[in-house]
Amino acid sequence: MNSLPSAAAPTPTTFGADERDAFRRRVLSLSRRLDRSLPWSGSSAWAIYVSEVMLQQTSVARVVEPWTRFLDVFPTPRSCAEASTADVLRQWSGLGFPRRALALQAATRVMVNQYEGEVPSSVDDLRALPGVGPYTAHAVASFAFGAPVGVVDTNVGRVFARVIANRPLRASEAQELAHDLVPPSKSARWNQAMLDLGAQYCTATPRCSQCPLRDQCRWRLEGGPDPSLRSAAVSRPQKTFAGSNRQARGRVLRRLESGPTTRRVLEGSMNLDDADRMKEIIDSLVSDGLIERRANKFCLAGDSAR
Ligand code: SF4
Repeated sequence: MNSLPSAAAPTPTTFGADERDAFRRRVLSLSRRLDRSLPWSGSSAWAIYVSEVMLQQTSVARVVEPWTRFLDVFPTPRSCAEASTADVLRQWSGLGFPRRALALQAATRVMVNQYEGEVPSSVDDLRALPGVGPYTAHAVASFAFGAPVGVVDTNVGRVFARVIANRPLRASEAQELAHDLVPPSKSARWNQAMLDLGAQYCTATPRCSQCPLRDQCRWRLEGGPDPSLRSAAVSRPQKTFAGSNRQARGRVLRRLESGPTTRRVLEGSMNLDDADRMKEIIDSLVSDGLIERRANKFCLAGDSAR
């Protein structure tokens, strides 16, 4: 969690009921204009669930193709639950953060055992699934089931801090604000419009001159330092990927997608020259449950290939 100012904070918004309703109407009126036509919009609860897990720490552009492929192979939670972990990891290829794939498959087994193979609809039940945090639970509840809950990702957290508060917001404040603002009967449309606004205009380097909310944005009207920079709901840039252990782990998994192989081959795939580091990377993949050792070879977890 990011550190935040310790001084007593003012209320998150000066919105009264009338201002809140006007802001709701304004955002809803912009929803078509803001719509990015994401392929999972309006699709099944399972398709939305998969998209939201894939979108954790990953851009929309990188998710579209793997999402389509994944659903072709695993059209239901049950089909994913019954697959080998190796096959799930193969369909996850190219997305990174592969522990998400393990959590996704573990979640489908809960769906099969507790929810008759369906995605649960309540935020509490979603939060109890492996790999599901507050953002994912609220997003699936809203987009798949129309639950009247506010969705706060890094983009929406930035919008709230700038448009409404003009000061850094704690994560809990941003979430409270989101719940207060969401129109109960238009949850999915509202939340998608807020995400679209944050993704297209109110980015880290905002496009204020083209933004449709520029006449209502407190930061733009009042000035001052960018309030999103110290907001808890706004993420920081990820560490450099090139040369990282994350990159080397990905290379090992890629190599194992085509079948079991020896430690020597895996080490060669990493493009590193530090023996201790290569051992550490292979050990971490084993302890994470992503790969297994069988006799003198390694393979993806649960791989039936010889
Ligand atoms: S005017 Fe600028 S800061 Fe305000 S919501 Fe629009 S893009 Fe964001």
